Amino acid sequence: MITFQNVSKTYPDGTRAVKNVNIDVEDGEFFVIIGPSGSGKTTTLKMINRLIPLTEGTIRIQDKKISDYDIHELRWNIGYVLQQIALFPHMTISENIAIVPDLKKWDQEKIQHRIDELLQMAGLAPDTYRNRKPSELSGGEQQRVGVIRALAADPDLILMDEPFSAVDPITREKLQDDILDLQQNIKKTVVFVTHDMQEALKLGDRICVMRDGKVEQIGTPYDLLKRP
Ligand code: ADP
Ligand code: ADP
Repeated sequence: MITFQNVSKTYPDGTRAVKNVNIDVEDGEFFVIIGPSGSGKTTTLKMINRLIPLTEGTIRIQDKKISDYDIHELRWNIGYVLQQIALFPHMTISENIAIVPDLKKWDQEKIQHRIDELLQMAGLAPDTYRNRKPSELSGGEQQRVGVIRALAADPDLILMDEPFSAVDPITREKLQDDILDLQQNIKKTVVFVTHDMQEALKLGDRICVMRDGKVEQIGTPYDLLKRP
């Protein structure tokens, strides 16, 4: 699904954030990137949907170079969930979820149906939550809306950057269970960035360990726990 071939990123100030990374993410896989702060995880993730240009190497999605995609085609087909809750405060929950479906010019009836379906999936009763503003939801509920918003237009791929780090431990555990159920049901490819090993072991089909911009190890949770 995603292939990194000798990918490096040097920022304009000379910081070498990612160094010669080779990664193969399989179709339908829950792929976790873990590493300490500053190890290049976010940079790696943001290069996939061209939020950051790469300096060297090639990234392909479904065998096509990301540079050959139309930027809208690429962005609209990749769901992106951030650490900071990024809902638009002046818009209702429905309007927030409808952003990408609207851009893709889905018809309104289909969008409304999709919104209700997603809210239901996230355990948020549509009649109660549809017309609320983000400030009328708890942090955990907002983060759940952030996740379903990323799924709204049925993307092929979902990128998540420490999506649960800002919520309390109990809510985090619940959100982890939810995202795991969800991914197993919809069988989407997910690339998930975290610095929390427990989270990585719980969620990942495979885990990629980054350190100082390099890939140190890639393996299943079992591989990682095995002593050499
Ligand atoms: P994370 O929590 O993902 O590790 P960081 O704290 O590394 O995030 O970075 C937060 C934001 O600051 C990012 O958008 C990143 O691009 C930016 N940033 C990080 N380091 C630098 C830097 N040395 N110079 C300029 N911007 C930076
Ligand atoms: P992580 O997500 O693992 O915390 P990042 O990818 O955010 O790591 O950062 C990797 C390295 O690149 C860090 O040294 C960080 O300070 C640096 N960096 C991140 N964003 C920028 C930026 N916009 N300009 C310069 N350096 C940056």
